[in-house]
Amino acid sequence: MPLRLFNTLSGTIDELSPQGGQPLSMYACGPTVYDYGHIGNFRTFLQVDVLRRTLNLLGVPVRHVMNITDVDDKIIRNAAAAGIPIHDYTARFEEAFFEDLDSLRVERPEIIARATKHIPKMVALIQKLAAAGAAYQTEDGSWYFRLASFPEYGKLSKKDLSGMEDGARVDLDEYEKDSARDFALWKAAKPGETSWDTAIGRGRPGWHIECSAMAMEYLGESFDLHAGGEDLMFPHHENEIAQSESVTHKPFARHWMHVRFLLVDGRKMSKSEGNFFTLRDLLLKGYKASAIRLALISVPYRHQLNFTFDGLIEATNAIERLRTFHQRLTSGTFAEGANAALQDSAKTAQAEYVAALSNDLNTAEARAPIFDLIRAANTAIDQGQFFSADKTAILAVLASFDRVFDVIADHDAEPTRRAVEWAEQSGRHADVAPELRARQSLTDEAIDALVAERTLAKKQRNFARADQIRNELAEKGIVIEDSKDGVRWKRK
Ligand code: AMP
Ligand code: ZN
Repeated sequence: MPLRLFNTLSGTIDELSPQGGQPLSMYACGPTVYDYGHIGNFRTFLQVDVLRRTLNLLGVPVRHVMNITDVDDKIIRNAAAAGIPIHDYTARFEEAFFEDLDSLRVERPEIIARATKHIPKMVALIQKLAAAGAAYQTEDGSWYFRLASFPEYGKLSKKDLSGMEDGARVDLDEYEKDSARDFALWKAAKPGETSWDTAIGRGRPGWHIECSAMAMEYLGESFDLHAGGEDLMFPHHENEIAQSESVTHKPFARHWMHVRFLLVDGRKMSKSEGNFFTLRDLLLKGYKASAIRLALISVPYRHQLNFTFDGLIEATNAIERLRTFHQRLTSGTFAEGANAALQDSAKTAQAEYVAALSNDLNTAEARAPIFDLIRAANTAIDQGQFFSADKTAILAVLASFDRVFDVIADHDAEPTRRAVEWAEQSGRHADVAPELRARQSLTDEAIDALVAERTLAKKQRNFARADQIRNELAEKGIVIEDSKDGVRWKRK
């Protein structure tokens, strides 16, 4: 089944398939590493993860390039304020970014390209633009893109740029105005700023040129898909198109995917409003990485996601249901045979799941049949109508679900442990929720020992001690489950 995905450029839902043969070539704008990533950023990276995992599920391998913007206005300003070289400043946040991606189980792109490692490519592209009459140098030595040279400007964002002022310039990396301006390709060095000595003068690249240069370096002049958050559509992606197509005269990316912004409690996230959360903030409040992942991907990428704590709790409960059910299947023994109705339900659930993802990555609709199947299977188990072949069939559906959603296998301890350790080391001790601190104070070995002591106490009919251990563990968020196969524990 092919993936059908909304294409911002055409304005329609188009089939996404590799044009130049496998793998599918895709470029997704990466982070500017000047701070810790917030949940809005991760919503976009997670939806791109859903895209690449869905393509893989459908049998399409990808070559996915992501840039790291490790030089820009904000980085230069913040590094100067901290009195350190920009690389020292960005290295810390780049490391944190990858740690956060790991916490959220975002798969790594095949290629990660740092802007500062590709300066010669950007310079070469600017030279080509100058030769084509699309770039000019100003008196201070900076270079600008001449918008008037590219009549198709605006074709992605569908903005009416009739009021465009010829020759008006902007040198900020980011601007939100609706009016288009000649934008900086290369900024002449200012005293004390990081700069590179190149054939077009001493300076540093603008933000937009880096993505054009690096996308074409790794994916060629035309490639299958370009993705990013909706804020990047204008001007960043529009500028990327202008810079690239002015030189190649070929379509840059054929398909454009934009992820809708995340709101918190219905409002734009902002530090001053107090509704701004990094991934780490949520982990330190005691929410599991898997719940954050599920909450951020369950609303399809083209819909506004209104992030709330209720939503996080819903995701936590959904994961609990998935994991408990999975455990029930793997630890249970079922008689030989098959329940024909359940076999049908498993096939239908699988087909509906794949169809929903293939339909513009509709994650909400993809979830629903899986939970319906769990309900039907639980009923069958309760009624003794569940057999070994049903277990095999349903575990296969869950495995397929987890190839994209990736929340059933429990990897939650490590991200939480890492976040707490980071908080302790960076003076954020007070941000760690007290119950989380208590929970973290027990190692797996210590819990194993207490559970063993409780089993022994029960054998010796010392029920008071056994109950005391259970309660002590419960207070620290550790749940003990007695089953006929023995005792298991888990962190809540
Ligand atoms: P930045 O590091 O600011 O360049 O952003 C990295 C990515 O996160 C870009 O693709 C942005 O479009 C995206 N992004 C930023 N804020 C949000 C938000 N509130 N919701 C969704 N995506 C966002
Ligand atoms: Zn970009």
